Amino acid sequence: MRKIKYIVFGILILFFLLWSRCVNAKFITQTQIIMSTEVTIIAEASFEDIQKAFDVIKKVDSLMNDYNPQSEISVLNREGKKEVSPMLREVILKSIHFSRITEGAFDITVGPLVRLWQRMGYERRLPTPRELKDTLSLVDYQKIRINGKMIFLEKKGMRLDVGGIAKGYAVDKAVEVLKKMGVKNALVNAGGDMYCLGEGPHGKWRVGIQHPRKMNEIVGIIEVKDKGIATSGDYRRYYMIRGKRYSHIINPATGWTVQDIPMSVTIIAPDATTADALATGVFVLGPKRGIELINNLPGVEGMIVSEGMQIVKSRDWHKFEH
Ligand code: AMP
Ligand code: MG
Repeated sequence: MRKIKYIVFGILILFFLLWSRCVNAKFITQTQIIMSTEVTIIAEASFEDIQKAFDVIKKVDSLMNDYNPQSEISVLNREGKKEVSPMLREVILKSIHFSRITEGAFDITVGPLVRLWQRMGYERRLPTPRELKDTLSLVDYQKIRINGKMIFLEKKGMRLDVGGIAKGYAVDKAVEVLKKMGVKNALVNAGGDMYCLGEGPHGKWRVGIQHPRKMNEIVGIIEVKDKGIATSGDYRRYYMIRGKRYSHIINPATGWTVQDIPMSVTIIAPDATTADALATGVFVLGPKRGIELINNLPGVEGMIVSEGMQIVKSRDWHKFEH
């Protein structure tokens, strides 16, 4: 009799636990436009906690957006030196790290080249060899000097552009805030640069990888938990010059925009900053050197889609495939 009582009690507790899990498993979704992109947070959290996560993304934007002339990065670019906040310093330090491991393919000193290509887009022409040479002379991550909080750009006319890493960094900062609030399950997505914390409403987070040419199709689904994911694609932003597509990602070695190969690069990494920077860097390296690099980095996987829908995957990519 006593045994039966315990069993009934046990079943009741189990039932209660399952029931309370269902009641608590409330995911809230919110979207805001920040950093010129759609930022979505889906989290098992309160409205207020999600708001705090958005606030830190806005903070990163206010420091690093170079369209805003008052941002720290704009002042640094204008004056060639500036005492910067710990956040911008961290992004610059991490960027230099990614420049080193990608042998310069990822380089935030591409600012002058980005401007040159923007101008070419407006003027609908290609740069002259002279324009390319002059602009390239301003691009070199080794000419960023850091002394405590001070950042110096060693050559006049140098400009930093953190567009290839800042969204991933902002995502990681938002996840940090959510974790501090005790949130266990969330997805923070800043226009394709994201972090999947814990699990979603139905188990591991599932992420579809966009077909680089057919906007309503996907080329695969991955299932992840506690991972950063980023995709760099030539389809998102590009310049059309004389009927040809020039991608917004530039090869710092040649000054030319990266064309045709690859069409998209998706990276899975331990954090969103790494995924974002490597997606941009591997885009420049191309499929062969790109996959070689990924296979040498512990905890990093990648998939590259090239012209003709040729797909290459890193060694353990399949472990995340759904
Ligand atoms: P993403 O969409 O993350 O690949 O970032 C692309 C953006 O990064 C561009 O719009 C530029 O602002 C910047 N960028 C372009 N080429 C490079 C490069 N080789 N290394 C670092 N950032 C780059
Ligand atoms: Mg990137």
